[in-house]
Amino acid sequence: MVQPAADLILINGRIWTVNRRMRWAESVVIRGDKIIFVGSASEAKIYVGDGTRIIDLRGNFAMPGFNDAHVHFDENLIAEAKKYGITTIQDISIPQSIQAYQDLLRRDELTVRVLIRPILTDWKDLIAEIRHGVANNFLKCNAVKGYIDGMMCNNTAVFFEEYKNAPGNYGRYHKMMIECDMENLIREALSAGLTPHIHAIGDKANNVLLNIYKNVINDMRIVVHRFRVIHAQVVYPSDFKKFGELKLVAEVNPFHCIADMRWMEEKIGDQRCRGAYAFRTLKKNGALLCFGSDYPGPDESNPYPLNPLLGIYAAVTRQTLEGHPEGGWFPEERLTVEEAIEAYTVNPAIASFEENKGTLDAGKLADIVVLSKNIISAEPSTLLETETLLTILAGDIVYRSPEYID
Ligand SMILES: [Zn+2]
Repeated sequence: MVQPAADLILINGRIWTVNRRMRWAESVVIRGDKIIFVGSASEAKIYVGDGTRIIDLRGNFAMPGFNDAHVHFDENLIAEAKKYGITTIQDISIPQSIQAYQDLLRRDELTVRVLIRPILTDWKDLIAEIRHGVANNFLKCNAVKGYIDGMMCNNTAVFFEEYKNAPGNYGRYHKMMIECDMENLIREALSAGLTPHIHAIGDKANNVLLNIYKNVINDMRIVVHRFRVIHAQVVYPSDFKKFGELKLVAEVNPFHCIADMRWMEEKIGDQRCRGAYAFRTLKKNGALLCFGSDYPGPDESNPYPLNPLLGIYAAVTRQTLEGHPEGGWFPEERLTVEEAIEAYTVNPAIASFEENKGTLDAGKLADIVVLSKNIISAEPSTLLETETLLTILAGDIVYRSPEYID
């Protein structure tokens, strides 16, 4: 049998496929923007032709490119993303950022795939422009972002009980909740093919959203919907099971956990903190867990880091970068590195109806990151010392570390 020649072959790697049926491989073979073979080095050789470029990974670790499920556009985002091996971002999109992505795409300078999510109350004015020329694998729009409540940092997340450090304060609903009929907004978006991705932080905000989702799902009899709860930050104990019952996506921010845990107990006390950033419990109850950095976040002088390895570190240790507290904050909620990687690759792909990415398998898009360390078997502290060597997007090398020579 004559094989079509490959454009690019990665050989001699420790390649983590994120495919549970074949976790490790030595080689990935790429033609055009897709993977055509994953497996042993000897089998990969069949695909070598005149024009094939071969990169010897010399035992370096490779895996699917990261999919950051929660970012906000800023000037540095695109340049920074490729440095961290991020090959897809899911943006909370305002009109200016949509314009910026479209301009980059036209100039052929978009080095990361983007899922744009306009705001639930203003997508109608934008949708024609958004959909014009974006229906490709680089720029897509299939979801909208809504809000139930505010934030933890300024006590505006909505809770059943008052804030411990602010008696009488239960938080504040978002303007969208007060002025609009949320259920109606969701139905309208769905009729245009847009999936609701809605922000809920406090336990009551999550409860309200879960009930709205339940009504819509039951009423419209949608089977595969992948509705998303953004943050799912503090969940009431009896509400966790609803994530599985309703087959919901929980888009969470592991770095928020290790940033906020310093003052969470002060604000809401020990009992409610057990349901905070409860990634293990969400997963166990059937939520599809997706990680996002929330870069750059509300504080410009102290942005949330974009680096997915810091998010993975946060999820597996629940400790500050300096290693506090010992053993981790509510350590029963820690994930394994493998699970955290899934939440940064295959899960966000499934959550966005993009089964053509997120694992290294024949037929999938050739989005790959090569790292300086094997993060699977190493101590969590290794995550803090690991660097990106190569970022491959659609079969093209879009980033190469100055230190990396193949
Ligand atoms: Zn955000």
